[in-house]
Amino acid sequence: MFVRRIGVIGTGYVGLTTGACLASLGHHVVCADVDADKVKRLSAGEVDILEPGLAELVAEGIAAGRLSFVLGASAAVDGAEVVFLCVPTPMGVGGVADLSIVESVLEEVGALLPPGCVVVNKSTVPVGSAQRTAELLDREDVAVVSNPEFLREGSAVHDFLNPDRIVVGCDQQDAAERVAALYARLGAPTVLTDAASAELVKYAANCFLAMKLSYVNAIAELCDRLGADISDVTEGVGYDKRIGQAFLQPGPGWGGSCLPKDTSAMLQLADAADYEFRLIRATIDTNNRQRQRMVEKVRLAVTGKRGGSLSKVRLGLLGLTFKAGTDDLRDSPALAVAALLRQAGAQLVAYDPAVRSGDTRIDEGITVVDDPYVAAEGVQAVVVLTEWPEFRTLDWAKLAAVVARPVVVDTRNLLDPDVVRRAGFEWNGLGRR
Ligand code: NAD
Repeated sequence: MFVRRIGVIGTGYVGLTTGACLASLGHHVVCADVDADKVKRLSAGEVDILEPGLAELVAEGIAAGRLSFVLGASAAVDGAEVVFLCVPTPMGVGGVADLSIVESVLEEVGALLPPGCVVVNKSTVPVGSAQRTAELLDREDVAVVSNPEFLREGSAVHDFLNPDRIVVGCDQQDAAERVAALYARLGAPTVLTDAASAELVKYAANCFLAMKLSYVNAIAELCDRLGADISDVTEGVGYDKRIGQAFLQPGPGWGGSCLPKDTSAMLQLADAADYEFRLIRATIDTNNRQRQRMVEKVRLAVTGKRGGSLSKVRLGLLGLTFKAGTDDLRDSPALAVAALLRQAGAQLVAYDPAVRSGDTRIDEGITVVDDPYVAAEGVQAVVVLTEWPEFRTLDWAKLAAVVARPVVVDTRNLLDPDVVRRAGFEWNGLGRR
């Protein structure tokens, strides 16, 4: 393995993980961000996102002199042989991927890139972006490679260092091989392809995952209507090796910083290619309905009738992050359901292990408390919205003693219904007998 001098632009979930992990593999990495406070904190080894093992890798990298942090993209490219772009590509107007940050970085660093440098798109960008990047750079001596990232928040370091696959796409074989070589020590299957195919792999994978979740949520709804049990159905389905057990848990709808924007970008991508991608449209529509369906579940559980009023009904929410194991609230289905409950007039008190009271990311309509038993005080129902394992082991008898009515709506099928029932609660899940 050749040790490389690497620049990483953007120090969020993807950029910081990429930088710290590449440093741990022996490369010399300079990470840049526009957030001056963040750069200062990272330089002091302070990591403010919840990712197991990340703070340790950052500290090791700094101590070994292989990892440093600088303000502004241009400061990271000096002498770099490879530059990773790990900046946000949020959902833009009309659902397309907004590439303005990527483009501003390219404008900033274009003339500063050393000859022979390889620019790597690790941000999730639509098909055609590598080509557009090359056009924007307008540098014959700089190659552009697509190398999409598949890490999951909450296990980012583990996923980066133990990838299911590495995908590298470039129309210049030597540049693709240089990027693939950075990961050689990981021993992962590597797909070397053209840039457009690599770009499409990322969207195809995320859309497939979203589709799987929408599908299982639809099957859970059918279970409710037909008197079948979703956990037995998914177990039976998942043993089929062509399907697998992963991503077969029903929930309040998928969310997070990637699936919503990537499904939406895929629709736009297909649209621009004159293909009506009905499967993805239905995947998104099913997801939007799922959130509303959770509200109907709460209505039914609290009022005993469909369409019953939630006006001034106090509810205790367990979970706000988009999934367990992360502090990320972006496009959280828990927050989406909470917003619908508020629209319906409910009063919300919430507890989440990764969100403290006073967190400015939560809008004022939700009272966040630091204790699950306080969140349950005087509520008409406890609503589980995120699958934090610790909710399973709460003292449900203690919760039963503080609620106004012992009703649980478990939108994750997380709890053990027997335990909760023994504590005196009525348990309502998704698609369970
Ligand atoms: P993030 O919001 O966590 O981090 C982005 C970072 O980039 C921030 O620290 C921000 O300050 C910085 N930044 C913004 N503009 C900049 C600029 N001009 N110069 C330097 N730094 C700048 O984002 P993320 O979740 O790491 O996602 C980055 C990309 O990776 C997106 O395209 C996303 O779709 C993709 N991705 C994300 C995940 C994930 O799980 N989060 C997984 C795979 C791929």
